Amino acid sequence: MSYETGLLEVGEGLYAYVQPDGGWGWSNAGLVVDGESTLLVDTLFDLRLTEEMLRVMRRAVPAAARIDTLVNTHANGDHCYGNQLVGDARIVASERTAVEMSELPPAAMAALIEQAPHMGELGTFFLDCFGSFDFGEIQLTLPQQTFDDELTLAVGARQLHLIDVGPAHTRGDTLVHAAAERVLFTGDILFSGSHPIVWAGPVSNWIAACERILAMDVEVIVPGHGPLASPAAVRELKAYFEYLYEQARERHAAGMSAPQAARSITLDRWATWGNAERLVVTIASIYGELDGDHRPANPLVAFEQMAELARSG
Ligand SMILES: [Zn+2]
Repeated sequence: MSYETGLLEVGEGLYAYVQPDGGWGWSNAGLVVDGESTLLVDTLFDLRLTEEMLRVMRRAVPAAARIDTLVNTHANGDHCYGNQLVGDARIVASERTAVEMSELPPAAMAALIEQAPHMGELGTFFLDCFGSFDFGEIQLTLPQQTFDDELTLAVGARQLHLIDVGPAHTRGDTLVHAAAERVLFTGDILFSGSHPIVWAGPVSNWIAACERILAMDVEVIVPGHGPLASPAAVRELKAYFEYLYEQARERHAAGMSAPQAARSITLDRWATWGNAERLVVTIASIYGELDGDHRPANPLVAFEQMAELARSG
């Protein structure tokens, strides 16, 4: 689906900032406004992109000149590396997210980008994914307020409900629900139009997160990546994970490795989704679950396997 970079009103006082094409690092964010009160859902992957987003927000919504509260939906840098630009805001995240956030500092990403030209095919893939972003000058800016499971925040007279449904995409994955307006910001629990990446898992918990969303009264979904969506996209994601679970179970029983399994699975009606290389990480996560091993993916191994699948696919 084609869509453009910019701010979209998704309900009264509710906005989505979307960045095509929604692939690696091209994340979305949200803005909630009531009178002079403002709340930002996530920052972007680098300072230039976040500054541009804040400029667009201020132009459309003058109250956004001051962001009172920032919610980081999860710990991946494409949702929090711009935090320092709203450093005066109260920053809120789930406890699991806050812990995970300090583990991949921007300096480590900057170092990887610098080394990538000497890292062979893995480096080439890494630059394909992240070479458009600038990880210099970023000061990791962490949440001051954390919560376990759920938290209700007021934005003026509005109520926002935060629900940590992780571990799934990462160890903590917070949904931001504006119930009165029937709008849900999902963070990376929903990638719209591309394959999800399972950093933490288990996949069964991600399926449970989908079920939790489907039980809510929601009309518009602002996904973590990709164009605006509706609950139908969450139903599709749930069906996708259930399909892969069955496909992986058969191949696991037959003694295939996760990379072999990923190459042999037919993507069926999800073949049009982007970033198909992520499939291998999902299959590895399901294999782990079948083996009773719930460790999160090792990012280096995951990137090696994805680079390999991207090359052969
Ligand atoms: Zn993301």
